[in-house]
Amino acid sequence: MTILAIREAVAALCARFPGEYWRALDRSRGYPVEFVAALTEAGYLAALIPQEYGGAGLPLAAASAILEEIHLQGCNGAACHAQMYVMGTLLRHGSAEQKARYLPAIASGALRLQAFAVTEPTSGTDTSAIETVAMRDGHDYVINGQKIWTSRAEYSDLMIVLVRTTPKAQVTTRMSGLSVLLVDMRDARAAGLEIRPIRTMMNHSTTAVFFDNVRVPAANRIGEEGQGFRYIVSGMNAERILIASECIGDAKWFIRKATDYANERHVFGRPIGQNQGVQFPLAKVYASTCAAALMVNQAAELFDTGADAGAEANMAKLLAADAAWDAANVCIQTFGGFGFAEEYDVERKFRETRLYQVAPVSTNLILSYLAEHVLGLPRSY
Ligand SMILES: Cc1cc2nc3c(=O)[nH]c(=O)nc-3n(C[C@H](O)[C@H](O)[C@H](O)COP(=O)(O)OP(=O)(O)OC[C@H]3O[C@@H](n4cnc5c(N)ncnc54)[C@H](O)[C@@H]3O)c2cc1C
Repeated sequence: MTILAIREAVAALCARFPGEYWRALDRSRGYPVEFVAALTEAGYLAALIPQEYGGAGLPLAAASAILEEIHLQGCNGAACHAQMYVMGTLLRHGSAEQKARYLPAIASGALRLQAFAVTEPTSGTDTSAIETVAMRDGHDYVINGQKIWTSRAEYSDLMIVLVRTTPKAQVTTRMSGLSVLLVDMRDARAAGLEIRPIRTMMNHSTTAVFFDNVRVPAANRIGEEGQGFRYIVSGMNAERILIASECIGDAKWFIRKATDYANERHVFGRPIGQNQGVQFPLAKVYASTCAAALMVNQAAELFDTGADAGAEANMAKLLAADAAWDAANVCIQTFGGFGFAEEYDVERKFRETRLYQVAPVSTNLILSYLAEHVLGLPRSY
């Protein structure tokens, strides 16, 4: 299947989930069960899982196209995008036994792995400061602590959790002493794991997760003890490129919506789009969206060659999130008062796309990365 054919098929699927569907969920902060089921059934969420485990074995460029198209059609992939990339930690660093046990079930949709718990209330962006501990006890680890902003935890069977297995005072390097555990929440929710939803400005199914003596078999540790940060970081480029693709989809949606409205809406006896004050911001954000899309494509292509795409993935996320946010602003301005009315979907998408200035990595941290690792400037933190 070509990327064009994938885009057309995704667009056809999305047509079954129009604005009314998303508006109703937004009001109730509901989970798009039917939309996620349709994507799962069509195999899109297993795009990156190799064929030997029952997935489609597609390159990241194809997964990017799927998510961009979902957003371009006015839908929202945030309810399930992590199902595409969180499994990468297991795929790249899990044992043969772990992969054989979990990946086919994830590929078929029988098991959902879309919760990824790194952030904690006190550590913030500084992952080296996480305090959730896992103490070895016989064949198990016992987890105590708290995570925050663990999105989709209520709608996932499995969760990847970054925990501290060596006290910070005893580690030799800043990022060692952390480990990755695969927690089966179906067992853990009855034995010390509590998930509390956090209501946010957009419908995102995010939560705070509390661990009170949660036992996890040591066999569920991914990779070596103490090396967990490395495994988490290795998945971040894919995540950034995929989220950037969603931002490109959002930007294109806003531009199309605003352009259509600017052609239709008549004030002073002519279309508002005839005024250069309305045209120019649209033309400008169109140009920056096209430029950002080129960077996203370049990052995905580089990632697919197996090369280090750190700089490109970060630039793609930065430029695409900015393009989406600029386009959201221009769109709401073009709509005037109607931009604030729920029924046009603009205000909802405006709220949704704002997130990507902050998560999964904030703009400042991307700039710091580029300054330090690409430009060779001194580390600032
Ligand atoms: C809706 C939502 C969903 C999320 N989903 C997940 C998830 O599924 N899993 C997960 O683990 N996390 C998730 N996150 C967490 C997200 O990754 C963090 O919010 C983000 O990385 C920023 O961390 P923080 O909120 O702790 O901000 P802080 O680290 O407290 O930073 C606050 C502000 O200070 C700035 N800042 C901090 N340090 C520096 C510095 N050295 N230089 C310059 N500026 C700095 C930041 O850029 C930011 O603007 C989610 C967050 C949200 C809001």
